[in-house]
Amino acid sequence: SQEFHLTSYPQGKPSPNNFRLCTKELPPLKQGQLLIENQWLSVDPYMRSRMVKTAAASPNNLIGAGAIAPFSLNQPMEGGAIGKVIESQHTDFQVGDLVNSFHGWRNAFVSDGRGLHRLPESNLPTQSYLGAAGLSGLTAWAGLYWIGGLREGETVLISAASGAVGSMACQLAKLHGCTVIATVGSDDKVQWLEQELGVDKAINYKDTINLGAALTDACENGIDVCFENVGGDHLQAAINLMNRHGRIVLCGLLSQYNSETPAAGPNNLNQLINKSLRMEGFVASDFWHMYPQYITELNQWKARDEIQWQETIVEGLENAPQAFIDLFDGKNIGKMLIKI
Ligand code: NDP
Repeated sequence: SQEFHLTSYPQGKPSPNNFRLCTKELPPLKQGQLLIENQWLSVDPYMRSRMVKTAAASPNNLIGAGAIAPFSLNQPMEGGAIGKVIESQHTDFQVGDLVNSFHGWRNAFVSDGRGLHRLPESNLPTQSYLGAAGLSGLTAWAGLYWIGGLREGETVLISAASGAVGSMACQLAKLHGCTVIATVGSDDKVQWLEQELGVDKAINYKDTINLGAALTDACENGIDVCFENVGGDHLQAAINLMNRHGRIVLCGLLSQYNSETPAAGPNNLNQLINKSLRMEGFVASDFWHMYPQYITELNQWKARDEIQWQETIVEGLENAPQAFIDLFDGKNIGKMLIKI
């Protein structure tokens, strides 16, 4: 089988040279084991946070506090994946079962069944369980409804809005009767959000000289809920426009994951006090116990044709590192996936 190892910790933006594709012979199956061939892998921005030697080595990482550990060098890399059971000596899994695992970045592996989850029977495409019907969708749902306490009629600002999490958040907020303002990095993305997903106003931040002014124009009633995926200037501008008792859902800080120095801002946190704002971070995997509720609702929206999603599919395990790097250049619309 083939698997990627991280061979050095990136300085700033990762490069393909930080990764090596290694070949390994898989052992014959023992009783209680099964062989899985992966079909789909997930690459995610948060993985950059694991590409550090220690939590202290990177000022903006997301590791620590029991959340997730750094990747070890020269070891198989972990990540979300969906594969098919090819051989089984395990009583709970049969040949042909499709399983979700966290052993991504490889084309096949032997497992004792721990950490494997059989995909539910559904009409949804297999790979959607790594995106809209998986952690990305759950993140949008938990963040907006459970952390943000979203109420009908409110104005929501969503950054990285055409990505896997962002595009689901936009639609969930619209389904909740909210006004949605979004920021994205290209005109094509603006068009998709405004014309297909019903976003009220999308702003191409790469084409905007003054993001604060553009957001002020777009958010004429202020912002009640900020679903923050980016941090830095985006967050600073959002704080200035928050309404009293607004909620800032700290989902991600994409603009800082490759940064070598601690983030400078926002420098207007005083407004959290005088506007009685609440800012709350969250880890979506803490909401797995609510996944059955999410997937039931998602299936209902899908059956009524009220929700859609895109995927950017890159073919070939060997292209996983570049696809991962491309996330930081906005080359994906919707979930970035590797098809093996
Ligand atoms: P996306 O599918 O959104 O991919 C990343 C997108 O982010 C790119 O397409 C790009 O689009 C945008 N982007 C990249 N760099 C920057 C930048 N410097 N400034 C602004 N936008 C940028 O990834 P995900 O949906 O998987 O993740 C979105 C966010 O959600 C991340 O911050 C991630 O860490 C967070 N997350 C948090 C979880 C949690 O449990 N809290 C769980 C899962 C994800 P564009 O063209 O618009 O720039």
